[in-house]
Amino acid sequence: MVSAGAVVSAGENCLLCAVAGGEEPAGGWLVRNDLVSGYLSGANRQLPGWCQLQVNRHATHLGELTAAEASAVGVAAAALGAAITAATGGDRVYAYSICEASPHFHLVLGPPPAVGPGEPRGPALLARVLARDPVLGDAAAAASVAGRLRAGLELAAHDRPAP
Ligand SMILES: [Zn+2]
Repeated sequence: MVSAGAVVSAGENCLLCAVAGGEEPAGGWLVRNDLVSGYLSGANRQLPGWCQLQVNRHATHLGELTAAEASAVGVAAAALGAAITAATGGDRVYAYSICEASPHFHLVLGPPPAVGPGEPRGPALLARVLARDPVLGDAAAAASVAGRLRAGLELAAHDRPAP
């Protein structure tokens, strides 16, 4: 077990390489193909609709992706984004990719958490997400949205033409 905040540099000890290799994350797969895996964000577990999308190869940042991986990330991120807005009724998707604590390319994305009318949105709200502000968490809503996300992604997959 790698402690929180530990920097992992090699694929051998990389938690996201383990996921890429088939270690199914809590909550199961939202997206899974040869190049990318998408699932509920472990770090943002209490935030309704927050997901994580990673490549299935140990590339440490966006600049190391192959064209095929970059395409797969874009397509999967768009599918997750559409499912997120459909599941939450929101009109925006926030996204970030930092890869400091876990240097294996992953994109974290989700709807802006609900805040009061006078509270700041945008960068200030994303900073609260990054700081894991417990006020923003809602475990029951997160579980409910996760179910709608899975259902929405399954429906979308059935709508796609066969390859
Ligand atoms: Zn890795």
